[in-house]
Amino acid sequence: MKWPAITYHSATSLADVWAAFAAHGPSVTILAGGQTLLATLAYRLSEPGMLLDITRIPELRGITLQGQMLRIGALTRHVELGRDLLVRQHAPLLAQAVPLIAHPAIRNRGTIGGSLAYVDPAAELPACAVALDAVVVAASAAGERRIPASAFFTDLLQNALAPGEIIVAVEIPIQPSLAAIDEVARRSGDYAMAGLAAAMRVHDGRVLAPRLVYFGVGNGPVLAGAACRALEGRPLTAESIAAAQAALTTDLDPPQDLHGPPEMKRHLARVLTARVLNAWLRPTEMAA
Ligand SMILES: Cc1cc2nc3c(=O)[nH]c(=O)nc-3n(C[C@H](O)[C@H](O)[C@H](O)COP(=O)(O)OP(=O)(O)OC[C@H]3O[C@@H](n4cnc5c(N)ncnc54)[C@H](O)[C@@H]3O)c2cc1C
Repeated sequence: MKWPAITYHSATSLADVWAAFAAHGPSVTILAGGQTLLATLAYRLSEPGMLLDITRIPELRGITLQGQMLRIGALTRHVELGRDLLVRQHAPLLAQAVPLIAHPAIRNRGTIGGSLAYVDPAAELPACAVALDAVVVAASAAGERRIPASAFFTDLLQNALAPGEIIVAVEIPIQPSLAAIDEVARRSGDYAMAGLAAAMRVHDGRVLAPRLVYFGVGNGPVLAGAACRALEGRPLTAESIAAAQAALTTDLDPPQDLHGPPEMKRHLARVLTARVLNAWLRPTEMAA
């Protein structure tokens, strides 16, 4: 199928973006890496009036350490996340996620801003953002506002951006001591059938602030509150891991999708919970 007729404009500053929104309103669609958007145009799943290319805006690039926070520009490509030394040191969960995302050609162009904005329920980076308690920095002609990642992903392919806003950066608190991601996919590079991004601290042998975030099992990343409560304040043991697995019955209500029925997804989530948390146990204490 051919693309719909579209106007294209390449912005070179944020001022250009605000001017385009002022002149063309909701018909403007932001183009970043284009890895999802261009496919949706080809299938006529979206029909914007104007494609506004933001890839030449310098303010949207760069990764900097600002106090206890890593600020990652919205145009940071997946491949850059995977190899950046600040990310590897302060938010290694993100670097660990990169090889799980699609294939090199897509990782070379896809951006973190595009991945967060699109809210594919099986995407890795939205789940990592929630697990790491990140903040999405949105901006419009009126200025910046900060949206916790846990409130940003509002529904299937829906986010908390207001009309006229774009993502300019993501701010990540320096990573807790333990964090990991794992997933089950049919083939390497496919979107996950189910996945888990997990982060926590351990103090005096007890789990603090656990964040178990599942993807591919809901309308967006799912922070599993009951499973987290099953771990909070307890030693990480085979028993507490089993309690977290059991609590997923409350936390997860996966829709049927092309991969299979809800019970299969719940099963995969339990398996991933054991895989990720067992890796932080001594071998003799493993949960099934
Ligand atoms: C075959 C294939 C396989 C893939 N597999 C995976 C996978 O396994 N895991 C995974 O996580 N992803 C996967 N992706 C998605 C890919 O990794 C990108 O993350 C995704 O395409 C979005 O990033 P982008 O920069 O290409 O955004 P674009 O395609 O340019 O834009 C996507 C959407 O986000 C909006 N947008 C982009 N940037 C901003 C911004 N800064 N502010 C506001 N809105 C913005 C656009 O308007 C559009 O609606 C796959 C893509 C393809 C084509």
